[in-house]
Amino acid sequence: MGHRNKQAGEKCGRLHGHTYDVVCEFKFFKMTDGVTMLFSDIDKITEPIIKEYDHYFLLKEDDPLVELLTLAGEKYKTVPFETSAENMAIWIFNRIKNEGKLPITRIELGETKTSKIIYEE
Ligand SMILES: [Zn+2]
Repeated sequence: MGHRNKQAGEKCGRLHGHTYDVVCEFKFFKMTDGVTMLFSDIDKITEPIIKEYDHYFLLKEDDPLVELLTLAGEKYKTVPFETSAENMAIWIFNRIKNEGKLPITRIELGETKTSKIIYEE
């Protein structure tokens, strides 16, 4: 996903992208025949949320680039916050929890192999 974060200095404020890595953890309280929930059923709920941003340019909704990309006919996504790893981790966590109705307890969102955010409740 491409993005820029103008609040995080000159380097992060430039247009760039990452191959994000997302790991989610869940806590289930019921088990039937040794299974809490099939991994494939978890994937059916989480993957559309995570992949919604795949190969898109993500901008804060008031970024001046929104108007330019619209004029150019380019596809992009917007969010109501700076696209920092911290904000993205919390945003995806809450979407999985609230829209997906899954008992998510922790998310790791990495921008690189050595730079990741962990958010948990
Ligand atoms: Zn970045």
